[in-house]
Amino acid sequence: MSSPQSNEPKVDASWIGWFVGLMGNEFVCRVPINFIKDKFNLSGLEYSKETLDVVLEPLFDRSVGRVFGHEEKLYGMIHARYIMSARGVEDMRLKYLMGDFGSCPKFYCKGQKALPVGLSDKWGQSTVKIYCPSCKDVFRPKYRPKLDGAMFGTSFPHLFFMELPMLRPEPPVEKYVPRLHVHGFHEVPLIPIQSGDC
Ligand SMILES: [Zn+2]
Repeated sequence: MSSPQSNEPKVDASWIGWFVGLMGNEFVCRVPINFIKDKFNLSGLEYSKETLDVVLEPLFDRSVGRVFGHEEKLYGMIHARYIMSARGVEDMRLKYLMGDFGSCPKFYCKGQKALPVGLSDKWGQSTVKIYCPSCKDVFRPKYRPKLDGAMFGTSFPHLFFMELPMLRPEPPVEKYVPRLHVHGFHEVPLIPIQSGDC
């Protein structure tokens, strides 16, 4: 006889499951528990044991929300490290290919998929932006302005394409060139005067 629970869907009641499932958090990866439990990955971060316990909580009471308020920062700073690891890059590759990070708003980039980037590696400086690997410019994301940019860091897109150079797109082949048409402007206005003409 099989276990009575074997056919039941596994419900993710963890704090991480709650956090990554929040509306607007589609940019965020699920950092594996093993990665968070590894003290090496937490070195240099300031946090309390209570905060870490909440982040690792397997049965999080969702009605309570952010109980201590520092969980998002701790998870975010670990997340910035995770997405620079081999497994994190792979998670982000899948999200990139799914278009989870949105696309470049420039017309000539033709909907090029974007990557998240921070303008600072320090928490609380600015919200996440998106980077277009085609025109190499940075934009405000359309719908998700609340995540801290430090969750992704300033170097992520660079590392991503160093690891996955085959995904790097070509720069846009066309660009906007203004064409000036002034009414009454002489068609051939400037013919150099030949020496000896005057
Ligand atoms: Zn672009």
